[in-house]
Amino acid sequence: MATTAALPDVHPLLKDFLGRRVHTLLIDGRPVEAASGKTFATLNPATGETLGVVCEADGADVDRAVAAARAALEGPWSKMSPAEREKVLHKAADLLEARAEAFAQLETLDNGKPIREAKNGDLPLAIGLLRYFGGWPTKIHGETTPVSVPYFPGAKFLHYTVREPVGVVGAIIPWNFPLLMAVERLAPALACGNAVVLKPAEQTPLSALWLGELLLEAGVPAGVVNVVPGYGPTAGAAIARHGQIDKVTFTGSTEVGREVVKASAGNMKRISMELGGKSPNIVFADADLEAAAKGIFMGIFYNQGQCCSAGSRVFIERPAYDKMVSALAERAKTVKQGNPLDPKTHMGPLVSAEQRDRVLAYIESGKKEGAQLLSGGAAAAGPGYFIQPTVFGGVKDEMKISREEIFGPVVAVMPFDTIDEVMARANSSDYGLVAAVWTKDVKKAHQAAAKLKAGTVWINCYHFVDAAAPWGGVKQSGYGREKGQYALENYTSLKSVWVDLN
Ligand code: ADP
Repeated sequence: MATTAALPDVHPLLKDFLGRRVHTLLIDGRPVEAASGKTFATLNPATGETLGVVCEADGADVDRAVAAARAALEGPWSKMSPAEREKVLHKAADLLEARAEAFAQLETLDNGKPIREAKNGDLPLAIGLLRYFGGWPTKIHGETTPVSVPYFPGAKFLHYTVREPVGVVGAIIPWNFPLLMAVERLAPALACGNAVVLKPAEQTPLSALWLGELLLEAGVPAGVVNVVPGYGPTAGAAIARHGQIDKVTFTGSTEVGREVVKASAGNMKRISMELGGKSPNIVFADADLEAAAKGIFMGIFYNQGQCCSAGSRVFIERPAYDKMVSALAERAKTVKQGNPLDPKTHMGPLVSAEQRDRVLAYIESGKKEGAQLLSGGAAAAGPGYFIQPTVFGGVKDEMKISREEIFGPVVAVMPFDTIDEVMARANSSDYGLVAAVWTKDVKKAHQAAAKLKAGTVWINCYHFVDAAAPWGGVKQSGYGREKGQYALENYTSLKSVWVDLN
């Protein structure tokens, strides 16, 4: 049983927020309790103590949120000009920037990520997304089309297209980047004029709730953004099958993604899916090996390895293999684990005891299947859900740790001999989210970029993302693209208008 923590020494705004007796749902611009009256605790994974008590939404609350969203679509939101929508999104960016410290601390407390990542990664990226999509409303437009109608030769028609909002968007997001994922959905959805029902992950519901309030303050009308924290099989499934939700954007595991696709068929919702990964990070012997070692390290240990884009399969060209493997193992031993609110901490805990145990089971399976444990391999002592950064060498492609998404700080390192061989092995995964290549040979880099089956290829870098660059996968890593102008496809539908000019 988790105990309630004394409030940590945090930003005064956050202290007030965390001091609330209960964190309510946000429906129709108002704080409301769940219809069932149920609540659940969200924990601080660094201590295992309760961080807050949250109202638990289920199907009845999703119904209320969808009704509010539908009504909001007909209300002041649809009457706001694109320029006014831009103003609201820019105001939201300014408010989030002004409160970045408090939001970063909240992310760290609810998720366990080191404060330096929350401050230098999650927050600037979230603010950047609001600014980037804040610029779009006045630039989303249709086209005129030179049409011909064969059975009326010489007749004149005007044809044009209009990009309209899809309607009510259901957003189901995971716990690894709680605020960033929420903003990544909300910013383009709002830029395109939709209303949203957002379900944050049950492990990390707080920042989405606080963001919902911030958006109201920025001028988003009541009902346009509804936040309904709750569990997947209840609140999440209610969104996936809801007859009055027009589109679902889902980020999470491939297994749950499959369920969401099936449930969405009832009313033919549009869907975009960002799912799992088992991404290859490939180092040729001619690479800047020091930079590559840093890139591999960041690729797998950023956010405790809880990234769908984690570089969890590392392929090293044989002449560089021994040197790189020992550099990685040595580096892993220097990682500072501890209180994630401490700016010097490199690695925090995993998000939950369940996730820690899942990852430990993978480590055991790696040992059993004969991979060579070079560093880490155990839970760290003390309270909280810490796992040591773990490096396995001599991994074989068929081992479980090389095939399945671990979602933790565990890397599988393997040697390779030729470019054709490594391309085939890299592509042999069911997933295809990202891939990276390290080499000084431009030709080789582009040959690899062309061959790799992935939504993103990084050359001599890793984990670079930007609001303007499209993001999404191929194969079982999902479909649709978030971020960039490509996200506008997700959140608009194209209307075709014909005018007879004869
Ligand atoms: P993870 O393994 O990263 O926790 P999940 O796919 O389990 O990823 O969860 C991602 C999101 O999907 C969370 O918000 C979770 O509550 C939600 N979810 C889980 N099960 C379902 C379901 N059956 N239908 C809809 N959403 C679900």
